[in-house]
This record gives sequence, structure tokens and C-alpha cells, in this order.
Amino acid sequence: MTNIKTVGVIGAGQMGNGIAHVCALAGYDVLLNDADAARIDAALGVIDKNLNRQVTRELVGKSDADAARKRIKGSALKDLGACDFVIESIVEEHDAKKQIFADLRSVLRPDAILASNTSSISITRLAATTDRPDKFIGVHFMNPAPVMELVEIIRGLATSQETYDTTLEFVGKLGKQIANAEDFPAFIVNRVLVPMINEAIYTLYEGVGSVEAIDKSMRLGAHHPMGPLELADFIGLDTCLSIMQVLYEGLADSKYRPCPLLVKYVEAGWLGRKTQRGFYDYRTDPPTPTR
Ligand code: NAD
Repeated sequence: MTNIKTVGVIGAGQMGNGIAHVCALAGYDVLLNDADAARIDAALGVIDKNLNRQVTRELVGKSDADAARKRIKGSALKDLGACDFVIESIVEEHDAKKQIFADLRSVLRPDAILASNTSSISITRLAATTDRPDKFIGVHFMNPAPVMELVEIIRGLATSQETYDTTLEFVGKLGKQIANAEDFPAFIVNRVLVPMINEAIYTLYEGVGSVEAIDKSMRLGAHHPMGPLELADFIGLDTCLSIMQVLYEGLADSKYRPCPLLVKYVEAGWLGRKTQRGFYDYRTDPPTPTR
């Protein structure tokens, strides 16, 4: 099995920064890449803040947090040749991911494992666009990665047993629990969760309840820690829409059709917390419902 020392993370967005954080804290050297250099700087700032919070809450020792910070470095794509394991976590768009995998062909060592943090796209389909389908696997972290216990592991048709075994050991060393999911659209967590969110958006669209009534109902009536609309804003409405589109197309069942209101919010660029506005406006404290 490959001995993993250096991990590459491509995409320094909300998931990428959390994955880099978790890997560094587990003792791996991390090279963090993004197409937008400003996103890397922002991610390093977020990681610093989140490590401080873990120290304050006595979840992590100060010296461990300091050591983790030193292990993460911003990196150009061409420098990821130093990595034993690379996790792609860029936007949930098949063509963008395909382009990254093409760019990595001349960069990665032949023995390096390539993983995707995709929420919904077929691992087999993504693997076929790489130069290493046998060394390609899905590792689906939950948001926020430093807090959530689970990682779904998804094998593509061509994923080798060795790749699976190495990944299992690696994810175990990150201190995460594992669920094996078969390679079908949106795997397990999002197959169940995102249609529930889409239904909550239909409930709003059809005027059954207000934003506040829907979230309150699910928090207090179903004991969900967050209401579905609040959760949609947290995940990112663009990501929610992409997942619904993958379910709709991949399972060819009209029950997965994305709610037109979700489409409208994404078209407006109201993507949730990351753009300050979604079903709530986060520029006010407390956030104000936008409908
Ligand atoms: P995000 O929008 O916060 O971040 C995406 C990042 O990718 C941005 O920093 C962007 O600059 C960068 N990027 C885009 N194209 C790139 C390229 N060609 N090369 C390098 N960087 C590029 O998105 P996110 O929420 O972090 O999602 C990233 C991935 O993780 C997606 O596949 C998503 O489905 C998956 N995911 C998301 C969640 C969630 O709750 N948001 C949970 C699990 C998995």
C-alpha cells in the first residue's frame, strides 16, 4: 500500500479548507491549490480561525494546532507532483473537474491516488476522464469537514482493491467514520438529504409556509439541528441545484425535479452563506428571511 505523507487538496472553498485542516491536524503535509490565489489566502485565514476555536474549546492542543498550521502550504497545480494522495474539491461541475483531471496528467506521480469530494457525480464517469481509473476513488466529506464524523467512500467500476484499502486506512487516520456507498447518483447522504431540502423549497414556493415556519417546523417538529432552508444556505444553493440535476438526470425520475425557486435563487447569484444571501440575508444579525 502507498505510504501517504503528502496530501494535495484542489479547491480551497468551504470544503477544501476543511479537508486541508483535517489532514494537517492528522499529521499530513498539505498542498492547497485553487484557480484563484485569493481563495487560498482566504482558506488559510479560515483554517487559522477554526484551529483557534478548537484550541479555545479544548478539542485540540495548542502545539498540535500550531504544527498543523505549518503543514499547510498554498501550491500551484504543477507542484502537486509531490503528493501521494490528491483530493479534488472544486465546483460541482463535471466539465470543470474533467479539465482538472486532464491538467493533472502531466503532474501526478504514477503511484499517486486521485480522489474526488464530489457530492453527486458518478465516480466511474469521472475516473474515465483520468489517466488512472484504478487509482481513482470518491471520498465524500461532510460539511464542515473538521466537525462532521462521516466520510462516504465510493468505489468506481475500475477502482482497485489496493486503492480502496489505502483510502480506508487514510480516512481512518483522519479520525473519521466510514460509510461505503455504491456509485449511484448522490450516493447515500445526499440522495436522502437534498431531495428533502428541495421539497422544503417547494413547500416555500407553493406558499405552504414561510421561510421561518418551514425551518422552525423541522427544527422543533423533527428535531433537525438546522432547518432545511438554513441548511441549503449552508451547503450552497448552487451545490444543492447541481445535486438535484444529477439525481434528475441520473435516475430519470420526475420526483427529483429541481424546484424552480431554487433555480431562480441560483440564477440571481444568491447562493447562501458564501455570497451572504440565500433564503436568508446574512448581512443582518440575526439573518433576515429573503421571502
Ligand atoms: P466552493 O464554491 O466553496 O469552492 C469551490 C472552489 O473551487 C472555489 O474556491 C473555486 O475558486 C475553486 N475552483 C473552481 N474551479 C477550479 C479549478 N479549475 N481549479 C482549482 N480550483 C477551482 O464549493 P464547496 O462547497 O467547497 O464544494 C466543493 C466540492 O465539494 C464540490 O464538488 C461539492 O459538491 C463538494 N461538497 C460540498 C459540500 C457542501 O456542503 N458544500 C459537502 C460535501 C462535498
